[in-house]
Amino acid sequence: MIKINNLVKNFGKIEVLKNISTTIEEGSVVAIIGPSGSGKSTFLRCMNLLESPTSGEIFINHDEITDPKIDMMKIRENVGMVFQHFHLFPHMSVLENITYAPINVKGISKNEAMKIADDLLDKIGLKDKANVYPPQLSGGQKQRVAIARALAMQPNIMLFDEPTSALDPEMVKEVLDVMKSLAHTGMTMIIVTHEMGFAKEVADRILFLDEGKLIEDANPVEFFSSPKTERASSFLEKVL
Ligand code: ADP
Ligand code: MG
Repeated sequence: MIKINNLVKNFGKIEVLKNISTTIEEGSVVAIIGPSGSGKSTFLRCMNLLESPTSGEIFINHDEITDPKIDMMKIRENVGMVFQHFHLFPHMSVLENITYAPINVKGISKNEAMKIADDLLDKIGLKDKANVYPPQLSGGQKQRVAIARALAMQPNIMLFDEPTSALDPEMVKEVLDVMKSLAHTGMTMIIVTHEMGFAKEVADRILFLDEGKLIEDANPVEFFSSPKTERASSFLEKVL
């Protein structure tokens, strides 16, 4: 579903992503792990063109999204993203947050958008918050709404950039539970996370980045029990 060939991203003179190549299969859940500054966010952001790659190719469903002629909006409709700091529209209700892009970007009817939102609110356990504004929500509730908002576009792929890093500890589980049930629906998910327990339990694959290089690509059992590189072992020693 996603194929990445020799992806390089530079910011000025700094090479942030160094020749990354990988393939991500449809329906798989991939966790991206690595030290701060290793390029995890940049890597994720290249997959929906929030950053434009310096060189290399990215294919999503056989479309080359790095082709300069590509319709970027169409790609983004298909690739949902959830950020560390939610990025909800504070002046819109929960329901408006969820229905805004389906109606105004995708152009579906208000009725249909409401139906999708209603169903999503049910799934994230926030049906009673439809008419509340984001400032009235807890961090965990905000992040669940942000996930529902991304899902309302009915994407094929969901990207998560440290979705629980900004949350108080007692709210982490409710967000991970929503992600876990999404994983069970067969959604293709790529998740930057420091939640090692979650990665171990839910991911099919772990990609370990260090200094802009993809240095391990393994299944979770292998990665957590016997990492191949010294760099990954010393990272795991610190975080586990
Ligand atoms: P991670 O998410 O793993 O912490 P990032 O992808 O955010 O890493 O950043 C990787 C490197 O790229 C860091 O050195 C960071 O300072 C740099 N970087 C990220 N975004 C920009 C930017 N917009 N301009 C310049 N440097 C950036
Ligand atoms: Mg980051």
